[in-house]
Amino acid sequence: MELIDIKSLDYDELLETMAQLGEKTFRGKQVYQWLHEKSVTSFDEMTNLSKALREKLQQQCYIAPVTEITKLTSKDKATSKFLFGLKDGSVIESVLMKYKHGNSVCISSQVGCRMGCNFCASTLGGLERNLTVSEMLGQIYAIQNISGERVSNVVVMGTGEPMDNYDNFVKFVRMLTDEHGYNISQRNITVSTCGLVEKIKQLADEKFSITLAISLHAPNDEARRRLMPIANKYSIKEIMEACDYYFEKTGRRVSFEYSLVQGENDSEEFAKQLGALLKGKNCHVNLIPVNPIKERDYKDSDATFVKNFKVTLEKLGINVTIRREMGRDIDAACGQLRRSYINKKEEE
Ligand code: SAH
Repeated sequence: MELIDIKSLDYDELLETMAQLGEKTFRGKQVYQWLHEKSVTSFDEMTNLSKALREKLQQQCYIAPVTEITKLTSKDKATSKFLFGLKDGSVIESVLMKYKHGNSVCISSQVGCRMGCNFCASTLGGLERNLTVSEMLGQIYAIQNISGERVSNVVVMGTGEPMDNYDNFVKFVRMLTDEHGYNISQRNITVSTCGLVEKIKQLADEKFSITLAISLHAPNDEARRRLMPIANKYSIKEIMEACDYYFEKTGRRVSFEYSLVQGENDSEEFAKQLGALLKGKNCHVNLIPVNPIKERDYKDSDATFVKNFKVTLEKLGINVTIRREMGRDIDAACGQLRRSYINKKEEE
């Protein structure tokens, strides 16, 4: 008999499962609370359940483990990077960023990634598998348990392409924002995608109030294709139409991520093109100097180029911020910690 991944069951599914086990509804409520509000990692911790019920649950179900392997904290203590181990031995990484307004966690959505963006460490080994709902939630719960502090914001911007794990991602959002569980506001969730157009439209139809971030990185298709293989499949025009649709359906301002790579996409001409592309849209641009990875020879843009790029966009009336680089001293760019860990294991 296959054990049930109990932390991937939403509230109604859990009540249903408990009913099938011959238990009353309020027992299901209690279990949901233990798993999603109190973030316990074993049935033994569910102390208001009888020993017999805990044993029954143990026989039929499992609580997907997300177990700390390494934790690295930046010198300024604001950023911690976690390497977590999963049930099948896979490793994933997540990041905790402490801001004045609260704690933000960046989670992974897949083990590896198949999108192949040239500058990204997460995609170098390809995709291994999708993360389950419980493993996505588990990263947040584990960080809360380790830090002892509540997580107030979640960004799905770690390893993986969330729109390539669509169903689990959507269920994850529903469960994380369920009032019976962790109960984070949808407004405090951001999902980042390299731009899978059909999925963006589907997400718009879910009518969530989460923030959509698009990894754009170039203002024209030719330049984008040099950085991101997905640009061969979808044009910027199609992405913009999907973003307009998202805004129309949800009323949420879309964010555009733009990693500045020296000599590739950081010229004034490109800033002007980007300004023209986004003119009149209710949106926001995040500029991020690319975080160089050793497998590629991309360099980050000079500070003056970053500044000029920002000023050019501002003159064209675009909302823009330069993303604070956090935790570069701890391999905090996407996938770099996991990558170093896997490389080290292979050398052993
Ligand atoms: N697959 C999703 C989410 C994960 S990547 C996406 O593409 O959006 C999260 C963000 O980090 C993306 O904007 C991605 O392009 C960017 N990124 C990846 N590697 C980077 C690097 N080395 N330096 C700067 N940004 C990087």
